[in-house]
Amino acid sequence: MSGPERRAKGRLAIAPSLTPRSLEKRGTPVQAWQARIITLFPEAFPGVLGLSLTGKALKERQWALDTVDLRPFGIGKHRNVDDTPAGGGAGMVLRADVLGRAVDMAMRGTPDDRAQWPLVCLSPRGRPFTQAMARQWSQTRGITMICGRFEGIDQRVIEHFGIEEVSLGDFVLTGGELAAQAMIDATVRLLPDVLGNAASIEEESFSQGLLEHPQYTRPAEWAGHEIPPVLMSGNHGEIARWRQSQSEQLTQERRPDLWAQWRAAQD
Ligand code: SAH
Repeated sequence: MSGPERRAKGRLAIAPSLTPRSLEKRGTPVQAWQARIITLFPEAFPGVLGLSLTGKALKERQWALDTVDLRPFGIGKHRNVDDTPAGGGAGMVLRADVLGRAVDMAMRGTPDDRAQWPLVCLSPRGRPFTQAMARQWSQTRGITMICGRFEGIDQRVIEHFGIEEVSLGDFVLTGGELAAQAMIDATVRLLPDVLGNAASIEEESFSQGLLEHPQYTRPAEWAGHEIPPVLMSGNHGEIARWRQSQSEQLTQERRPDLWAQWRAAQD
């Protein structure tokens, strides 16, 4: 259900639904960023996203999470969602007809412009996820993600809907749910007002193209190890220079790929 009867004045009074909700904030209608997840395991959500800053922001409706359970779209009495791979081989593949119906449902009411609402499938064969993608996604109105299971999903679904395949990294997970949560976490923390301290986003790893400098906190001495004296000096210029040089050194040592990109961008 949607429409005026569901429109509440206070942002906390809005109940979860599959239709994007309207929120009123300082008189201006705004819609919270929304993630819709197609999964065989809706109980895996919100998972870690329900904790800490992302969890608080979820409760405060700064973003919304809806799962679309794949099972009810399945075939027959047992609601089968998978079948053996065409051409033979190990494992099972998620069926195109079953997934197709779930995608239709999950894209209902979303903007036609995919730049405003990406449709993504989690896959080890996909484009590697990066901070830049998280930033881009945080500027959309929402996202629909398909979590694969077994050997993955029927290729025709990917082509029919023009689905973007995205990978969490060069390893194989049992299902897309963990990858979806990781990517949503990285995206949600970039939404305005979700992290209390916007400066911490600007300074952290990848935001400037470098890895972050090491961090220290009290006690000043622990197990015979001291905090680098420059950090205790109170000299902000010196501290900034030290941090920058640590960032550069770490990036050069650990991530020659990022270092080369950063150097090229400085010229
Ligand atoms: N047979 C596939 C792997 C299937 S793993 C292959 O070799 O490419 C089952 C599901 O887990 C995938 O459909 C995908 O949704 C998810 N998954 C596994 N590894 C992933 C990764 N690195 N990134 C994102 N999703 C992943």
